[in-house]
Amino acid sequence: MEFLDRLLTCADCGGEFIFTAGEQLFFFEKQFTNDPKRCKPCKTKRAGTGLTASNGPAAAGLSRTETRTECSACGIETTVPFKPTQGRPVLCRQCFQSNRVPTTRALVAAAANAEMVAGTGAEHAGVGAELLIAAQAPHAKG
Ligand SMILES: [Zn+2]
Ligand SMILES: [Zn+2]
Repeated sequence: MEFLDRLLTCADCGGEFIFTAGEQLFFFEKQFTNDPKRCKPCKTKRAGTGLTASNGPAAAGLSRTETRTECSACGIETTVPFKPTQGRPVLCRQCFQSNRVPTTRALVAAAANAEMVAGTGAEHAGVGAELLIAAQAPHAKG
């Protein structure tokens, strides 16, 4: 089968463009039965807008359940995947994650445990001191 360059009319801008033999071969191999409808610039333009649309809020995974609110800890604007309950603190992702690490009380307990387990082991005592410092850090920030 032989292909010859063909002149087609763009459906978007009405301009003529060449449907090259190579492109026809490509279409033939892909079993596309329809001729291309648009010239390259128009095709690129459409692809461009399509890309922008896919980068929109919908593509970002912002569903209807996302609620815009302020973080109770640091005050920055954030979105949460649920409807915040009145009076309940809402945390941004960062604060939420830092809240997931052992709480101050847990850290102190862990430090105490470390000291108990450590006995004379200087290495373990050092870990305990570190945990205590970590536990005190949130207070220093206020
Ligand atoms: Zn065009
Ligand atoms: Zn926050």
